[in-house]
Amino acid sequence: MKRTVICTVCPNGCEITVDYTTKEDAQVTGYTCKRGIPYAIAECFEPMRTFTSSVKISGSDRRVLPVKTNGPIPKAKLMEAAEALKGIELTVPVAMGDVIVENFLDTGVNLVSAMSL
Ligand code: SF4
Repeated sequence: MKRTVICTVCPNGCEITVDYTTKEDAQVTGYTCKRGIPYAIAECFEPMRTFTSSVKISGSDRRVLPVKTNGPIPKAKLMEAAEALKGIELTVPVAMGDVIVENFLDTGVNLVSAMSL
């Protein structure tokens, strides 16, 4: 199988091609620097994304607080991540970077506040 991905590690946006039958035999071409290799392989076999959303908050003019993961999580868990926020309701004060959920969905990264309120 041959797949082309756009590397988002830096603004160059290299078009990288991965030719593979298994992860172990993947042939990667089109990258400008070596950082593109693990990115392209991950995109084919275990794509990761930083999750961003919002949760309810009370005690402020704003009704929701923006949150994000402090690292990428498996793309396959994004829907589960959105569902997990439904039961969360915070109260001010919250500082930017405060941990809202530790080890979010057992991914090894935390869900944190993206704003101070
Ligand atoms: S392959 Fe290297 S230079 Fe190209 S977009 Fe990825 S990180 Fe940037």
